Amino acid sequence: MKYDDPLPTLYPSPNCDQRPDGIAIDTIVLHATVLNTLEEVIEKFSDPHSRVSAHYTIDRDGMLACHVPERLRAWHAGQSKMKDGREAVNDFSVGIELVNLNDGEDPFPEAQIQALRRLLTTIVARHPIRHIVTHYECADPPGRKSDPAGFKKSWIEGMLANEDPSSCPSGHLLPEGEG
Ligand SMILES: [Zn+2]
Repeated sequence: MKYDDPLPTLYPSPNCDQRPDGIAIDTIVLHATVLNTLEEVIEKFSDPHSRVSAHYTIDRDGMLACHVPERLRAWHAGQSKMKDGREAVNDFSVGIELVNLNDGEDPFPEAQIQALRRLLTTIVARHPIRHIVTHYECADPPGRKSDPAGFKKSWIEGMLANEDPSSCPSGHLLPEGEG
C-alpha cells in the first residue's frame, strides 16, 4: 500500500482515550519516530506499557498506518503548549509520526512527504485545522523535544487555507539538522 491509497492501514494502539467534550480538533502535530522502521513503531504503539501513540505513522515509502481514530485522543505530544497559550495539545490535535531517525541527517524521502501532504489534505477536510506544528514547536518546556529534526515546513506550505500566521512563524523553526 502506497501513498496513493486513500485508506490507512489499521494498526490499533490501546494508548488513547476520550477527548474533552465538545473540543474542536484544530491542530496537527508532526513527529519523527526516532525508531528506524514502521514495524518497531507498531510494536511500541501496540504495547500498553509504552503509554505512547499517534494517530498515524507514515513510512519512508509512503505507507500509511493508522493507530488511533481521530475522534479519540492519542498520546503523542506529552507536556505541551501552543504559542496561543493552550496546553495539553493532545486534547485538540491529530498526531502524525514520520519514520525517521531524527538525527537531522536521515532524509525524509519524497514518497513520504507526498503521503504526508495527501494525509494532511484529508484531515484538513474533516476538521477546522488552523495550525500544523512540529513537536519541537509545541513541546513544553521549549527544547524538550527536537522532532522532526531536518523537516522543512516549506514542504507542506499552503496546506492550510485559513492558517493562523502567528501559529508557526518561520523564524521559530530550528535550522535544518539541529536536534
Ligand atoms: Zn514527537
